[in-house]
Amino acid sequence: MRINLKQLKLHQEDAVYFDYKGSMDDRFLAGSGASIASPVEISLMVKRQNQVFYGSGALQTVIEYSCSRCLKLFTRPISLELSFIIAEAGNEDRYDEEVLLMEDDEADITAYIEGTIFTEIPLNPICDPSCKGLCPFCGGDKNIDECHCVNEEIDPRWEKLKKLNREGG
Ligand SMILES: [Zn+2]
Ligand SMILES: [Zn+2]
Repeated sequence: MRINLKQLKLHQEDAVYFDYKGSMDDRFLAGSGASIASPVEISLMVKRQNQVFYGSGALQTVIEYSCSRCLKLFTRPISLELSFIIAEAGNEDRYDEEVLLMEDDEADITAYIEGTIFTEIPLNPICDPSCKGLCPFCGGDKNIDECHCVNEEIDPRWEKLKKLNREGG
C-alpha cells in the first residue's frame, strides 16, 4: 500500500486523500491464529506541515479468530484509528517518534497498517464471554452438549482423609 505525496510535496494540494478497499495479505497474522475475513477499507488524509507529512484516518475490516476455549471459528469487525508521520528518507533521525519514510515521493504504509491491526488481536480470543469451552476428558464442546464426564483423578487430599477415616473407625 503506497501513498503518492508528490502533489503535497510540490504544494499543489493542502492535503491528499487515500482510499482503499480490497483484500490484504494477512500472512503477518499467521502466528496469532487470526485472519482477515473481509475486504479491508482504509480512508486516509495526509497533510503537510513544513517538511513533515501527517497521516490520519480509519481502517475497517473483519477478523476471524479461533476461540481459545472451544476452538470454534468466529468473526468480529474491527475499526481502527490511524495516525502516523511520514518523513523524507534521510531526515528520519530528526524525529523522536517512529516515522514512515518517503522515497521517490511515495510512502509505503503496509508495515504500519499490519502493525496496527496486529496490536488489535487479543492473545486469547473468546467467542463469547460465557463460552464453556471443551471438556478436558471427552473433548466435547460443552456449549453444544453438556457431557457427564467426572474427574477420574482423585485429589490426593481426599485419599488421605479416607485413610484417616478407615483408621479412626
Ligand atoms: Zn468458544
Ligand atoms: Zn466430557
